[in-house]
Amino acid sequence: MKKSYILALTLLTALPVSAQDYSDKITLVLHGGAGTITRDNMTPEKEKAYKEVLNIALQKGYGVLKKGGTSVQAVEATIRVMEDSPLFNAGKGAVFTNEGKNELDASIMEGKTLKAGAIAGVTTIRNPISTAIAVMEKSPHVMMAGKGAEKFAKEQGQEIVDPSYFYTEARYKALERAKAEEKTELDHDAKEEQKVKKAPKTGQANLEDLIFTEGKKFGTVGCVALDQFGNLAAGTSTGGMTNKKYGRIGDAPIIGAGTYANNATCAVSATGHGEFFIRSVVAYDISALMEYKGLGLQDAANEVVMKKLVERGGEGGIIAVDRKGNIAMPFNSEGMYRGYIKSDGKSEILIYKD
Ligand code: ASP
Repeated sequence: MKKSYILALTLLTALPVSAQDYSDKITLVLHGGAGTITRDNMTPEKEKAYKEVLNIALQKGYGVLKKGGTSVQAVEATIRVMEDSPLFNAGKGAVFTNEGKNELDASIMEGKTLKAGAIAGVTTIRNPISTAIAVMEKSPHVMMAGKGAEKFAKEQGQEIVDPSYFYTEARYKALERAKAEEKTELDHDAKEEQKVKKAPKTGQANLEDLIFTEGKKFGTVGCVALDQFGNLAAGTSTGGMTNKKYGRIGDAPIIGAGTYANNATCAVSATGHGEFFIRSVVAYDISALMEYKGLGLQDAANEVVMKKLVERGGEGGIIAVDRKGNIAMPFNSEGMYRGYIKSDGKSEILIYKD
């Protein structure tokens, strides 16, 4: 055999597999939180407002993927739209802590490198998802919290805002309600659902009327994506839970709990009662079921969200995508704001169970 032929053959077999084109598989999935979101306590105006922003976010991320952007860039673009909207419990619409503050958490993970970044308990960063990405890309760390994370964000040229930027009247009222209900529940053991006031069905809605605060609601936002290079990414951003105690951190910034991505398995972003999601290491568990047990994406996601979490009393849901562009969006609550878009542009936005 000629030497040059052998050399060519060796070079060919040494080519990275990643040269494979995934442009017909690009996929983006998002969520805007789960909870007691039912047709009964929704109004047509609210539904329209939520669907509009979800669609803008979906199209924004899809545009990035279509133009050859990475999954991390698409996840960031999508989440920023929801962070800037007062409708979701992330960024501008963040819920209030027990002390009447807004403390935000966010994280990102890249499936190709298994690199990750997260920030927790920040009060002045306008777009926490972007700072989480800066932690991943520009620091030697994975997670930064509180004042340190804010100092880092400033150094990185991230947009800093006054904490009052996060104030919305609807969320503040929700805090007051939550505080009052805690007391009532102790006194009368009343069910939260019974106290859910039905929203008016007619009339001109102002911004505060459009923010869904009825019942139990986990309004975290998240996004998972598969780009044309075959790389997965997952991101999550939240204000946490209304009336959370000082310094409480949820699952959203915890890699493996609220966010996880691995090109060998899937990308996952969660929303729900964070304490349960942390204890069940939800996002990683779904990935591990695929890796170790060979389960498909939907089966793995159902096993964790519809079985394990239900048995343990953990309410919420997840969105996930694998490298083939398969998606899963299971939730065990009454509703979950969710949507997806595929490489052919087919998209859907859903809210309720049916
Ligand atoms: N998982 C979030 C947390 O516990 C809440 C949410 O999903 O809205 O902080």
